Amino acid sequence: MPFSNVIGQERIIKLIKNSLKDGRIAHAYLFVGPDGIGKTMVAKTLAQALNCPRADSDACGRCPDCRRIEKLSHPDVNWVRPAGLSRQIGIDDIRGLRRQISLKPYQSRKKVYLIMEADRMTAQASNALLKTLEEPPADSILILISSHPSSLFPTIVSRCQMMRFSPLSPKRIEDYLVKKLNLSPNKARLLSLLSEGRLGKALSLQEKAVWEEREKILNLGSQISHQDDLEKLLQVAEKMLELTSNFREKLEERLKDELREVEGVFSKEQIGEIKKEKMAFLSGETRRKVGEILDIIIGYYRDLLVFKEGGEIINLDRKEEIEKRAVSVSSQAVSKIIKSIEETKGFIERNVNLRLSLEAMTMKIAEELEYARGSSS
Ligand SMILES: [Zn+2]
Repeated sequence: MPFSNVIGQERIIKLIKNSLKDGRIAHAYLFVGPDGIGKTMVAKTLAQALNCPRADSDACGRCPDCRRIEKLSHPDVNWVRPAGLSRQIGIDDIRGLRRQISLKPYQSRKKVYLIMEADRMTAQASNALLKTLEEPPADSILILISSHPSSLFPTIVSRCQMMRFSPLSPKRIEDYLVKKLNLSPNKARLLSLLSEGRLGKALSLQEKAVWEEREKILNLGSQISHQDDLEKLLQVAEKMLELTSNFREKLEERLKDELREVEGVFSKEQIGEIKKEKMAFLSGETRRKVGEILDIIIGYYRDLLVFKEGGEIINLDRKEEIEKRAVSVSSQAVSKIIKSIEETKGFIERNVNLRLSLEAMTMKIAEELEYARGSSS
């Protein structure tokens, strides 16, 4: 899709478009900013703009090149993502990248390498990448993407052109939702608060299915502080896993369809690479999904605390319920619940088994609630 479809990040897009016009594109970029802010979207559009035969310094979004890049099925646009149990980008991943980079582009003008969560490169991988950054090949561009750039080697950061992505103001998101999507001011305000400056997030929340899922998650999550037996809490974990596996199955189907489309078009080796990228994408997206589910629940319990302290809550549509709940549970218990869920999120990001993590979380919360009740009586 063209750059004009990206809302916000105007400064960055202007810089990139000017460089495309003048043919002064950097050989390595580093895109930094919080998750869901648009880094991947802009990186993908840049990859398209570099390869699109139809648009000048932009992407048309409709030609075969643009569409293949969109579907992660372009042989000259390569994605590197953390994988394996440790969720790291290892030396072998970067060696593979260096091998490919030494070859001529398969069908396009520029090869693009997108390194997602670049901060998850091991020291060895970072050193190997550094060699490429020191002698950049003329027909390739690297885009490193990171929401934790402080974990990157300073030598890597210094060799990339850094672009800082910033959240949009809630007001800007609210106005966009009212003007472009005709949402009511109340709904637009709620979505802008829930999205924390990430327009992509706000847009996905206004889809019916996503909103209904949020309702389900909140109904589940809000039970956590009011269950007195472990069995019921484990059922909550079970239902969260169900939501996740539904998501995974749907995504898996979609990826299989996309793979079928490129079969016979590219060589066996290229299909192998594309398949590998898609599998890593599936695993990453599933974990991201669980993170999202947990974030919704954390948001709910933060609101309980905020309400107790007389602040402004975010889940405005649950105001009455939050007011009621806040009276019957202690701040201490709520803080412990939030802490346990945040820890679990960390485990899941580091690739600990989903089921184990969620079950361990509910057990820990049950113990803590038991303790909180015991000590208050
Ligand atoms: Zn195009």
